[in-house]
Amino acid sequence: MTRAYAVAMLLCAASIADAQAPAESVRESPAALVVDRDDSDDDGTTDNEQAASVPLDEAALLMVPATYTTPVTVNVLGGLRVLQGGKLAPTPLVLKPTELPAQLSLQATEPSTGSRSLAVLLASGGETIRKPLHAVELAFLDAQNRPLRPAVSGLAISQRVTSDASLPRGSEHGITSRDPRNFRIQITDSLATGKRIEARIESTSELGQLRHALALTLVRQDTSQPFRSRFVRLVGDHVDRDARGVAGQALLVALRDTVRVVYTSGGHMMQQAMRISRPGDEVSAIAARQASLRVFVLRATKGAPPVIGTDDASAIALIRAEIASANEIWLQCNITFGAPSESPIEIADPPKHGFIAVANRDGLPARGGTIQLRADGKVLPPILVPTGSRAADTALRIAEALRGQGFDAQVTVNPKTVFGAASGADIVVRRRNGELAVVDAAPGSPISTDPQQRIELGAVDLGDGIEEFDNMTAASGTLEERMLIKTLADDDPSTIDLFIINRFTHGTRQGEAFIEASSGAIGNAVILDRTGLRHRETAWTMAHELGHVLMNQPLHPDNVGRDRPWLLMDSDNNRGTVNGPKRLTPEECSLARDSAGTPAGVLKPYAERASAKDASKAD
Ligand SMILES: [Zn+2]
Repeated sequence: MTRAYAVAMLLCAASIADAQAPAESVRESPAALVVDRDDSDDDGTTDNEQAASVPLDEAALLMVPATYTTPVTVNVLGGLRVLQGGKLAPTPLVLKPTELPAQLSLQATEPSTGSRSLAVLLASGGETIRKPLHAVELAFLDAQNRPLRPAVSGLAISQRVTSDASLPRGSEHGITSRDPRNFRIQITDSLATGKRIEARIESTSELGQLRHALALTLVRQDTSQPFRSRFVRLVGDHVDRDARGVAGQALLVALRDTVRVVYTSGGHMMQQAMRISRPGDEVSAIAARQASLRVFVLRATKGAPPVIGTDDASAIALIRAEIASANEIWLQCNITFGAPSESPIEIADPPKHGFIAVANRDGLPARGGTIQLRADGKVLPPILVPTGSRAADTALRIAEALRGQGFDAQVTVNPKTVFGAASGADIVVRRRNGELAVVDAAPGSPISTDPQQRIELGAVDLGDGIEEFDNMTAASGTLEERMLIKTLADDDPSTIDLFIINRFTHGTRQGEAFIEASSGAIGNAVILDRTGLRHRETAWTMAHELGHVLMNQPLHPDNVGRDRPWLLMDSDNNRGTVNGPKRLTPEECSLARDSAGTPAGVLKPYAERASAKDASKAD
């Protein structure tokens, strides 16, 4: 075997760049590879600590040809691992001539330094060939310049105003960041000379599409140090991406994106990556979570165009854009409302009948009387209401009479209003096929002869908007709101129902959230007027109202503490700038993610790992 042949047999294909690099540069510099400390297969184990099924995307290929006639001993110097068939191979590794040709991979565990050189040794028949390798370390450093471990930690977008002082603008070696979510890149490349090098950082979607990229300049004060970039701040929307004064430091991402640093050394392109948040099957505070929405866009009247857009298709497109915007905001808490294209959106007529309210607002008991109703033209037998009957008792009597005529009648009890005597109750009346039944008074008689306990028939009339709740009825909602929600929403407590209306009657607000009240019959529902939607990305009304539901929190922090107008849950700011009301605090994220603060079942794991999904299917 000649030496010339032996050198040629060693093909170090560290990356795709090898094929594109000029032949001379490959020959002149040792094959270079990156210290593979990320987690390309997202299995929670660092790639270069994995024993089997090791991801080989950052490994160098080593071909041992079949021309050897005596056993070949493969050994390594420095921080290198030998892999065979994707498994860690013990070194020295002895290959018999019958096992050749053999395809091995080399993986770096430590960077090359002045005092540590990496090499692979092939010994056979008394002759040893030594091929040097060059290993470069690309590390993500946290706000305190500590290396992040991609296999167990994740990146997250900032909760600070993008252009504020908590993003350091300098690149001094020891500078730290007050915002704990900022990070920087450190590169250890012993072949690099001088005090600056260039790299790139990019974000790609779960589908592998490039979202955003930044050129990075990394510097060092003296050549004994590794190179460090400025701090990078992750942001969720284009307003923050384009914020003034942070050019080159704000990278746009979405939930579960990959953030990759790409660097070229000696003609070899190399990379290391971290993901946004953690996989959904984990329990950590940054594991990805999803809340599911069901959206109803009302028509002004039966058959009329929807209250937003010009037709059904444009209304649906507007809602999808709103959901995308809410996703960008709630990315701060690693929460998504799912792919906007997959959210169920229904264009609905305002419900006109099939709803009976007993003792609305006042919750007064019966003094005694007779209720006479007609449903779909059928006169019901008179319903006698004894003195002292509570609203719920009366509602059950009505429901029973309706069921006797073949209708489906659902009774719900409302929370007591502030000055109410007791709880009121509602009945939703449907035909067998699920459509709302037409309920009215029997001809020639009043609905009820009871002088105290009122029986009212509901109708949602958007002509004057939806009557909004006031301080008295906040817990129960108005009759019109309850009818809208109870007739259209499903019973699934794990979804948040969202109703888009034209306006609120008294114009006192643009959105309302019905949070899961302990005894409330309606919860996890949001009503938004179209003005709130028109101010998307200045008011973030949908994201704000969803915040009340997720945090199970009716109050605004500026009602109880100092005014912080940059917060999403602040209620009195609508600036469409980087200072707009869009930030969530770490406390708010814990509240939204905490099972105590979140209506049971609303948040589900998002982007679970394939292995975890298989495991849950198995049992
Ligand atoms: Zn609010």
